[in-house]
Amino acid sequence: MKKGKEHLKDGLPLELLVNMQRLREEGEWFEGELHPSALDVREDELLGIAGPLRYRVHVMVAGEEVLARGWVAQCLRCVCGRCAADFESDFEDPEFFASFPREETLEFLDLTPELREGILLALPNYPVCNEECRGLCVRCGANLNTQKCSCPPGAREAKWAALDQLSLKRPES
Ligand SMILES: [Zn+2]
Ligand SMILES: [Zn+2]
Repeated sequence: MKKGKEHLKDGLPLELLVNMQRLREEGEWFEGELHPSALDVREDELLGIAGPLRYRVHVMVAGEEVLARGWVAQCLRCVCGRCAADFESDFEDPEFFASFPREETLEFLDLTPELREGILLALPNYPVCNEECRGLCVRCGANLNTQKCSCPPGAREAKWAALDQLSLKRPES
């Protein structure tokens, strides 16, 4: 197979290869989509891929370096850290940047690992479906976004107070 030929899956490329021998002197914009599997993460109940990886990146040679900057985004499925609901959201790196040492003989520069990293760094440790999400009642488990529960106010504090008591009473070893 010719080096640099795009590998396709379901009609979408799996990598972004920049032909360095044909790159214009003033640099060039590259815009497109990669197949979702380009992100290469293990999907589970907490994280799923819900669309292609999208990018718009400017690549140019500057002295002894190759500079790539732009934007990268992907729609992912997450579980809300407050209410445990599944939701889909775009995660993006609006200030994508990568640099490489310039190699005269390099034919194709593969930007895929850097695009992937841009998305992974944009993933929050604690995803929430909505900044306003009210979460679950710690006492009865009701989803407070969709219903009101009848737990007394302060139930939450009472619960934590009980836990504090427990930790004080830990048996001595
Ligand atoms: Zn939520
Ligand atoms: Zn409740």
